Amino acid sequence: MKSIFKTIEHKCDLCIVGGGLSGTIAALSAARHGLKVVLVQDRPVLGGNCSSEIRMWVRGAKGYWNRETGILAEFEEENIYRNPTLAPTLWDSVLFGKIKENENITLLLNTSCLDAECFESRITSITAWQLTTYSWHKVSAKYFADCSGDSVLAPLSGAKHRIGREGNEEFNETIGPEIADSKTMGMSILLQARETDHPVKFIPPEWANVYETDDDIDIKANNVKYSETRSHKIGTSGCNLWWMELGGDTEAIANTEETRDELLKLAFGIWDHIKNRQDHGYENWELEWIGFLPGKRESVRYIGEHILTQHDIESEGRFEDVVAYGGWPMDDHNPKGFKANSIDDKASVLYPAPSPYGIPYRCLYSQNIENLFFAGRNISATHAAMSSTRVMGTCSLLGQAMGTAASICFKNNLKPGELKGEYITFLQKDLMDDGIFIPFTTRPISSVTTKASINLSESDKEVLFNGIERPRFENDEGNKIQLNKGDCIEFTYDTQTYIDTLRIQFDLDYKRKSVSPNMKMQWFAQKLHQGSDFVPMKVANTIVRDFEVYADGELVYKDNNNYHSLVKVKIDKDIKKISVKFNDTWGAEKINIFACDFIGENYNYA
Ligand SMILES: Cc1cc2nc3c(=O)[nH]c(=O)nc-3n(C[C@H](O)[C@H](O)[C@H](O)COP(=O)(O)OP(=O)(O)OC[C@H]3O[C@@H](n4cnc5c(N)ncnc54)[C@H](O)[C@@H]3O)c2cc1C
Repeated sequence: MKSIFKTIEHKCDLCIVGGGLSGTIAALSAARHGLKVVLVQDRPVLGGNCSSEIRMWVRGAKGYWNRETGILAEFEEENIYRNPTLAPTLWDSVLFGKIKENENITLLLNTSCLDAECFESRITSITAWQLTTYSWHKVSAKYFADCSGDSVLAPLSGAKHRIGREGNEEFNETIGPEIADSKTMGMSILLQARETDHPVKFIPPEWANVYETDDDIDIKANNVKYSETRSHKIGTSGCNLWWMELGGDTEAIANTEETRDELLKLAFGIWDHIKNRQDHGYENWELEWIGFLPGKRESVRYIGEHILTQHDIESEGRFEDVVAYGGWPMDDHNPKGFKANSIDDKASVLYPAPSPYGIPYRCLYSQNIENLFFAGRNISATHAAMSSTRVMGTCSLLGQAMGTAASICFKNNLKPGELKGEYITFLQKDLMDDGIFIPFTTRPISSVTTKASINLSESDKEVLFNGIERPRFENDEGNKIQLNKGDCIEFTYDTQTYIDTLRIQFDLDYKRKSVSPNMKMQWFAQKLHQGSDFVPMKVANTIVRDFEVYADGELVYKDNNNYHSLVKVKIDKDIKKISVKFNDTWGAEKINIFACDFIGENYNYA
């Protein structure tokens, strides 16, 4: 590209385009497994649709016991600890800090990927423009990953992709139209309001839409409310107005700017309606923030080695290469969005999905570009399947799976499509060691752990080493042991034994009652509107705050302010005895532990 502006060159192992939750988590997982990563993000902040620029709340698999863990849980735990009142820009800073503190990652913010060079069927480099520095960045890498949501590398590399809704016959699906079209789910901008202790006036801009009555918003048919989903009851536990949606019936990417303008008219009009047009009781509420960046639900999806379908989801996705899971219903929005206006033409229809269902690794890399991965809302899935996999809890798992897969490919000099067979087992194990739940399997425990004499009852040992680290169904209290404060777990060996890393999975309080009394924030620590009933978040009371590790009687690690549910302590010593002493929690009476064992690259696993 000819330009008077300078070009800065980067070389890395993995270049990721797009820093939503999927790209951010993919970068971190790959970097933690040793890859040099360049993360290219076109916005000033990370997080995509959950960043302070858009503020959509993170949702995932239904059922508290299916809660997404791994890096997403780590982010949430950091946010709860540092940002208990859930200021959106502090959430941005959590993601920013996690990426910045990793020396293997070069983060290019405000940098938009615009071009790619390819050789045969590989991408060799991408070029991106950094808005703030007036400079070009050329990134050469062994592997590339597209987490841009919009799949910018598809047109740039010639990777196979699709847009819109499949006709029912193609995959024998029932969701979606009979005949294929190019329509998508639309975009939304959100607004955020706060309750004050005095009346607050709102004057809408002249160009805002006008909605005089509820019926102008929530169309009535045959005296039946058209859609409960256009509720505009806001409040701490209220609605986030996601239904202010447009643009699905136009070209998703090309018309973003026009759609944004229409969305602003709509959003200001809705707030004017809530405040001024009918007696909704929001006199004391003020509009704190309105998004100027539309959140995109759907645009271009890649074609990978497998295309996930409605049927795969309905049959629980029991694939051999499951590396992530979903469990949100298939949540198919009408491309007309807010313009959908009859009882037979609903704004969104929810079709049940099992929770959890497995998502195979083969949906995360390109069918025809041999060094291209992807994760997030652009994975290889039909429109129907994507209407479930698109939620950010699921996208986070996809990002972690993809980043970890890239590290295995790099270490073994594999193309993404060559990661099969025993490599899938390694990938699943790495993910589980990093706190990810993989449905239909259990985490293997090292023989170094099980050959030790351990000062626990046989039944406690069975629970601790059963490879299950969470409740598995409603009110399941199994899979964790309970100790008293001050108790130790001791691993003793007859001979000197090399201990690589101690791994402990504490209880993150899956029901989240100790984290927040608010159901919405029990799902994920993010708020939208703030009523006077808002209560700051608390670290889960079951997390062990204070613990110590002794190797042959010598203190090798101590933390009296731990707020993470998964901890790994590098020991790297030959020893005969390791003792872990659990001193205190963030409030729970007992010490709850799901797993406590040793992991290491050269260990044998059962
Ligand atoms: C209004 C709305 C409501 C939703 N409701 C929910 C909900 O309640 N809960 C839930 O969990 N999910 C919800 N979703 C879905 C979810 O937000 C998305 O599916 C999810 O954000 C996808 O994650 P991602 O990382 O793939 O993409 P994104 O979050 O879109 O992130 C992609 C990032 O890549 C960047 N990017 C794009 N192009 C380039 C480029 N050329 N160069 C560099 N960077 C680039 C973008 O700026 C963006 O930051 C909703 C989505 C919308 C829009």
